[in-house]
Amino acid sequence: MNFDKFKLDTKIIAGIQAIGYSSPTPIQLEAIPHILEGRDLMGLAQTGTGKTAAFVLPVLQRLLTSARRSSVRVLIISPTRELTEQTHQTIAKLGKETKLKSTCIYGGMGMQPQITAVKRGVDIIAACPGRLLDHINKGTVCLSGIEVLVLDEADQMFEMGFLQDIKNIIKHLPKKRQTLLFSATMPDDIRELAKDVLHDPVTVQVGDTRPAPTVSHTFYPIEQGSKTALLKNILENTETGPVIVFTRTKRRSKTVAQQLEKSGFGATALHGDLTQGKRQKALDGFRNGIHKILVATDVAARGIDVRGISHVINYDIPDTALAYTHRIGRTGRAWDKGDAFTFVTGEDKYIERSITKTLGDEPKYCTIAGFNYSAPEVEQEAGRKHRSASRNNSGQSRRIKKSHGRARTGFPGSTGNRERIFID
Ligand code: AMP
Repeated sequence: MNFDKFKLDTKIIAGIQAIGYSSPTPIQLEAIPHILEGRDLMGLAQTGTGKTAAFVLPVLQRLLTSARRSSVRVLIISPTRELTEQTHQTIAKLGKETKLKSTCIYGGMGMQPQITAVKRGVDIIAACPGRLLDHINKGTVCLSGIEVLVLDEADQMFEMGFLQDIKNIIKHLPKKRQTLLFSATMPDDIRELAKDVLHDPVTVQVGDTRPAPTVSHTFYPIEQGSKTALLKNILENTETGPVIVFTRTKRRSKTVAQQLEKSGFGATALHGDLTQGKRQKALDGFRNGIHKILVATDVAARGIDVRGISHVINYDIPDTALAYTHRIGRTGRAWDKGDAFTFVTGEDKYIERSITKTLGDEPKYCTIAGFNYSAPEVEQEAGRKHRSASRNNSGQSRRIKKSHGRARTGFPGSTGNRERIFID
């Protein structure tokens, strides 16, 4: 099955070939024909399924086949800056030959360049809700010509408290339009929103809200104070491609990245205290292979689309099973394989159970033979240096010996200053 069946414009087909997609993913197969027909659509698809192209391709087709207008015609609203930027990049790549223009609108940078870009004329705006509302209120963006509205990752926008902002934005859009709503889950509030904003929608569901089947899941019982030593041990003894390590707090992401960097692992941090420029630099460095390890907070979880991430390591377990699915969605994307490692402490029992329920199957539990689970961090560190020296001498890397069963857990974990999610 290739993309021919959608009868897309040859300029769009050229974009598909350039980006390297050979056949549509299930969500694309299901959703594209309905969107091309002009139907409203509710897409229940987890992250990593190819849902961005599922709406970008038919939207480009619509723009090419109907008369060009001076105003903005398509609005895509996403929860995070990174996701907004990524959607814009996907449009740029798939629409390269079409001459259609898109721009991004999100906070953390000046409004003037955004105003200038919109004034110059764009067909598509990809935006975060808060900054878009600022523009609407200042009269610097006019949405009266919008033909298609896309609400991407609606459940995440709801979790981040954007629901009212979205309702306010929608008041400024024409009533007659096509609306597409994508969400990994369907909590009641999103169902209510869908009822209000979608007209006679088709529902398309791909798989369920579980993490992609291409990802394997392993839990590592550990005490809070030994996590960094365990992380280094795993990184040292596991063959990996690019790795994302998730921490719960900004401070911890910074500290862990520094500790890894000091031990020669090539890591960088990505968290909400960094300026937009630094966030982009960290992401670019990771994407280009300058840093093999990205230590991130959840703010980054939704936006990162780096092919070939081999491992997601949850240094801190996420707060919800949904957040687990989103973090894990950074690996095993499209048809790649991936591994998800999660450190669990005695305090994580509740969320551990909830994730296990979402997974359907029991995850593997792993304890590492030879790892000193009762040693404080500093001793582990000294031990690691010793081991790493002997490893360098022999030029050999040891593989992890996995054993099933649980280690002693229960060290009280501190959560420190919790990540603030950006309200743009
Ligand atoms: P998304 O769920 O939109 O974030 O997409 C996840 C990943 O799948 C991205 O890296 C896309 O570029 C990739 N992708 C999307 N559609 C296809 C396709 N038809 N074939 C191969 N990869 C794809």
